[in-house]
Amino acid sequence: MRFIQTFQVFPDIPEPLAFLETLSRNLWWSWNQNALELFRRINPRLWEASGRNPIVFATQVPQERFNELAKDDSYLAHLEQVRKRFENRVLNQTDGESPWDQGETVAYFSMEFGIHETLPLFAGGLGILAGDHLKAASGLKLPLVGVGLLYREGYFRQYLDKDGWQQETYPETDLYHLPLSKQKDKDGNDLVISLTDIDGDIHAQVWKIRIGRIPLILLDTNLPENSPEIRDITARLYSGEQYTRLAQEVLLGIGGMRALDALGIQPTVGHMNEGHCAFVGLERLRQIMDRYGINLEAAREIVSRTTVFTTHTPVAAGHDEFPPDLVKPYLKPFEAPFDMSADQLVALGQPDGAAAESPFSMFILGLRTAQYINGVSKLHGQVARHMWSHIWPTRSDDETPITHITNGVHIPSMLAPEIKLLFERYLGPQWNMGSTMPENARRIDDIFDEELWQAHEMCRSRLVRTVRELMYRQYGRRNAPLDVMTAVESVLDQDTLTIAFARRFATYKRAHLLFQDPDRLEAIINSTKRPVQFLFAGKAHPKDNEGKGIIRSLVDFGRRTSLRHRFIFLEDYDLHIARCLVQGADVWLNTPRRPMEACGTSGMKAALNGVLNVSILDGWWCEGYSPERGWRIGNGEEYQDHNYQDAVESQAVYNLIENEVAPLYYDRTVGGTPKEWLKMMKASMKMAMSQFCSLRMVSEYEERFYLPASRRFEELVSDGGAEACRLSDQHRRYLDKWGQIQVASPIRSAQGPFRVNQSFEVTTLAQTGELRPDELNVELYYGKMRHLDRIDNPRVKMMSVKEEHSAGTYLYSCKLPCTDSGRYGFTVRVTPNADAWIRYRPELLTWA
Ligand SMILES: *Cc1c(COP(=O)(O)O)cnc(C)c1O
Repeated sequence: MRFIQTFQVFPDIPEPLAFLETLSRNLWWSWNQNALELFRRINPRLWEASGRNPIVFATQVPQERFNELAKDDSYLAHLEQVRKRFENRVLNQTDGESPWDQGETVAYFSMEFGIHETLPLFAGGLGILAGDHLKAASGLKLPLVGVGLLYREGYFRQYLDKDGWQQETYPETDLYHLPLSKQKDKDGNDLVISLTDIDGDIHAQVWKIRIGRIPLILLDTNLPENSPEIRDITARLYSGEQYTRLAQEVLLGIGGMRALDALGIQPTVGHMNEGHCAFVGLERLRQIMDRYGINLEAAREIVSRTTVFTTHTPVAAGHDEFPPDLVKPYLKPFEAPFDMSADQLVALGQPDGAAAESPFSMFILGLRTAQYINGVSKLHGQVARHMWSHIWPTRSDDETPITHITNGVHIPSMLAPEIKLLFERYLGPQWNMGSTMPENARRIDDIFDEELWQAHEMCRSRLVRTVRELMYRQYGRRNAPLDVMTAVESVLDQDTLTIAFARRFATYKRAHLLFQDPDRLEAIINSTKRPVQFLFAGKAHPKDNEGKGIIRSLVDFGRRTSLRHRFIFLEDYDLHIARCLVQGADVWLNTPRRPMEACGTSGMKAALNGVLNVSILDGWWCEGYSPERGWRIGNGEEYQDHNYQDAVESQAVYNLIENEVAPLYYDRTVGGTPKEWLKMMKASMKMAMSQFCSLRMVSEYEERFYLPASRRFEELVSDGGAEACRLSDQHRRYLDKWGQIQVASPIRSAQGPFRVNQSFEVTTLAQTGELRPDELNVELYYGKMRHLDRIDNPRVKMMSVKEEHSAGTYLYSCKLPCTDSGRYGFTVRVTPNADAWIRYRPELLTWA
């Protein structure tokens, strides 16, 4: 029906309430309880029914209600309070204290952003983390801009058919119901960017959405000038088709950089959240070459030193790879400006020395363009160093240049309103500053047990109510008979120990672990003295039949008459359900197969609300676990035999619940509250507040990566890129001359054995060829021996020139101190005396 013209009618918000419209157009309201209440109190039931979307809500509130509120002094006072805070937190320029200069910008790229349930732009933890990154950056007043894609259908919505088999729907999002603003070019036309596709061009509209102080730029190919296939590039998140997937990543990386350019934003730092975004580097190179009139080599020195690359995937198969022929058309526009052939460009995403047809890895492209690389927990950092050590074949795993920054969660978004009230009273108005105010965590001890327990019980009541409503809807959709519908309205018990398990149903998350011995599980649930109830939620990927099978067996189990009330699967896991669960459950259960969970953040959200973790020692829990705060399943073992592992670990879960968790929970001998349990709740809350808050995480990115990288950017581009050109000459010189370097086996002045505090001299002869000694580091590499031939925690000591032995050959020496007893090993090696980027090039290292 092409003749249809459209227009939009908004409610006529009376002038005294005008701020409500401003507020509804910035997601800041979603994590500020006082702002959120401003909408909710207009009509709490309608608010829930609108899906907590202020724009939809405003169209449903009768005009009279607005007129009434415009004369309601208490409402206006509330509004004024929120308006002041908004002005202060969001609109004000940063005060003089900011370490950031005008013009410095960090561009944060991600395939998904999980900000609020009304914005369907995410699938799971990666997205929520990206959303929390933006929210925390707003709180810390960082000059950061997010870049992502605007999915018309988002990730799928889940429902179960009557056999318990997962079905997917893809409802289209109404863009007019989201606080999006179409960006315009300088002539006032819609801002559309273009890039090359296999045949023809991709055009994408540039949108913006405000997350507090942070703009999030989103690209959308659903434009009439695009062909149907191209319009579908941004239809769905993780659609699974290889072509679409690649086109999405091209759009995000190359298109995202073009959109920033069109908006006049030139990032001084690029942050790629996972390998999906790795094309960012290519377009950034092109822009920098253009802007500063420098060659590709010099531009590479700039881009790599100012790019951050975060990886989240501890399995090699989880990283995107594409056949070179699929990638080449997209790289075509770079051939001329880079003066590179299609094969040379593809080689940027292949391991050194790989065959021309080997797959193009987004991860390897990312590694080649980023100096700051990190995993997302301490354990994951180790796993990633091991996994990618083949890219640095001359170094040991410990020295693979990948570090870690442990994830954190955005406290105001996840903390229960009932606990926020307690925090306001006991911690003061700055309670939301999390890890940046250490005294906050300490004051949690001041909260009276009875008050905390009551707040927690209110959270659980809210959870029970929500579950009943959701179940009623679930069964209604399946046309369940009347008696079932009535029964559904009374599922769960108010006072029973409630254990939640909610996450994606990926195989490694092992939702099936609990069902290894169904009869034992049933006995635990129906214990007369210490009953337990379970809540499950989570989506399986549409193509993952194994995951769907697990959901079905879980639903089947829950159909046993004896369990119907206490064993429940909630459909369509999303941020709203996640929030209810991490606030209202008593225990958060997590059973991944170590070390597959890179970090995991839902357990942090639970801990923050005083919900105790029972988890495998994997991801963040390796850093969070202590016996005062929760329970560990096993001791961090890794197994070859998965069936055996499942048998052992499921028994461990049953034993923990039966022998430790339930008895502690039901111990009400002192004053009717579970005293020891409350102690653990407080310890968990303190831990989450101080260690696993997103402000701590983003501050770490800021201090360790963003600030040094941004400063470096300014140095490198100043003076027409003079410093970048100097570095590229230096880099080239090393690459050209490195082959001439040879270093002999070190010689020690004494054979030993030695006593602690003695030392001895080590010397070696190094041939440096055309490179001068001041261009090189000759390093003594030593440490305690692990097996026969491996050095544990190697240490490095610089050797210095003792004498010139003959032309181009030098005798180096240093003292090796014996600090601890044990069996030691040592050798020597040569590396460039240059900054970290050059020093860590795999080809610039020579061992004795
Ligand atoms: C926090 C969160 C996740 C991530 O949780 P994991 O512990 O990584 O599984 C996924 N989905 C939603 C809706 C969340 O809120």
